[in-house]
Amino acid sequence: MSVRFESVPVLDVNTNNIEVLWPSLMKAMDSSTFIAVDTELSGIGTRKTLMAKSVEDRYKGTAENAKTRSVVSLGLSCFKLTHVDTKPKKQAGNMSDDSFVDEHSSTSCHTWNFLVQTYNIMALCQEEYVVEPSSLKFLVEHGFDFNKQYSCGVGYYRGNDKPDLISDKKCLRSVFTALVKTKKPVVFHNALTDLVFLYQNFYASLPSAMSTFIADLTEIFTGGVYDTKYVTDYVHRMPASYLEYVFRKSQRDNVQRYNTERSSVTINILPYPASDTVNYCKCGLPQGSLQGTDPDQETLQAIKEHICLGFAGHGWCSSGDRCSKSHDIDLILDMDHLVQTRKSRKRKRRNRNQQSDNGDSDESQEPVNNQFTKDQFEEFMSKRLGSGEICQHAGCHRAGFDSFMTGFSFAVYISKYGSYKGSLNLDDCGMEAFKNNVYLSGKNMPLTIVKSAFSKTSKDHKEKIKRISEIVKNSDI
Ligand SMILES: [Zn+2]
Repeated sequence: MSVRFESVPVLDVNTNNIEVLWPSLMKAMDSSTFIAVDTELSGIGTRKTLMAKSVEDRYKGTAENAKTRSVVSLGLSCFKLTHVDTKPKKQAGNMSDDSFVDEHSSTSCHTWNFLVQTYNIMALCQEEYVVEPSSLKFLVEHGFDFNKQYSCGVGYYRGNDKPDLISDKKCLRSVFTALVKTKKPVVFHNALTDLVFLYQNFYASLPSAMSTFIADLTEIFTGGVYDTKYVTDYVHRMPASYLEYVFRKSQRDNVQRYNTERSSVTINILPYPASDTVNYCKCGLPQGSLQGTDPDQETLQAIKEHICLGFAGHGWCSSGDRCSKSHDIDLILDMDHLVQTRKSRKRKRRNRNQQSDNGDSDESQEPVNNQFTKDQFEEFMSKRLGSGEICQHAGCHRAGFDSFMTGFSFAVYISKYGSYKGSLNLDDCGMEAFKNNVYLSGKNMPLTIVKSAFSKTSKDHKEKIKRISEIVKNSDI
């Protein structure tokens, strides 16, 4: 594959094929540089819980939800950095695009090559659980097949290990155990909810205090936890930070970076034989973009009116499929780009006017090049229909595809903010500033996954991690 890709394969794992796919899943995890993880849940609780002012309350609320809701699918996207190509830059970059505040002014650029293997494991909690109507609606609208989940979801139970069930080796809890055993860096998008749910559903009973939970995490994910929502919100500062937006922006930035001789990411996939297990999720970039056009005020207004602004800001709209406005992520990105370009032009003009101090800051005095009219926009939209949609109906492999989107966005952040010093280990790629920082909605600071001198790990965790280390020992013999 290349810097551009049209689709990505997601392997569907269920009770019928878990035995067969197990060795390749284990190998993909063991050989990866980092593993992106995503969960699809039967509910996440109320906004009041998720946005609670006190972070401790937020943890307690989410923990309560994790005990009553369930994981309906688990996505794992294994990214293996195979090699990095280095080539000298022809000339120092002089980029006009202000969305790239560049990282390192180096004289060479790198192509980071990743081999990507993505799995979607359908899960079925064996205990009673709550399904929230809004989550049900979301899952159904995205093509989730509940019949399939009940007939071939991989079963699991919550909380601590049940000694009589430990012998069942190829189950969901052992996938999580394998994830812990690999000691690889794990990457999430908005990590906190995922971490709390993973812990309660596949690991052990959650501790009551958040500090204990954090201490446990430092021993569970020894390769470090990364959160692409943290990088996006605190460092990259995009206008929005929901996963689809971040992924598409990363994908577009990556192509542009490649074309302008800056460091970029190339992904490679395995040549899977055609089967029901492999699903290709479409995610190619559409033909044409409004980036680089110069719409007048009226046209910009027409573009804005075409778009569902609720969806544009948060990636979610209560009307879902029935919304009369566009949820086209590329159009949303184009609009944000045009608005930003306009703002920075105004800023530059203001600065110039202040410098010349002639008091003339009337924008209408500036020559505006009306290259793009309302009619042209309508023509553009009629050509655009249907092209370049991101896997809207990923159906039962949504968690898998979401984990891929998370991993890819992270890979692009490595090429942008990281540095290559000859090693293929993530710890040597200059990403320390992002390690173990978890995004907290509405807070100025991230949650750091660091063990404090005052907090102890939990009893349940101590027992569990001991059992895991014994599994490692036994498998070495
Ligand atoms: Zn809408």
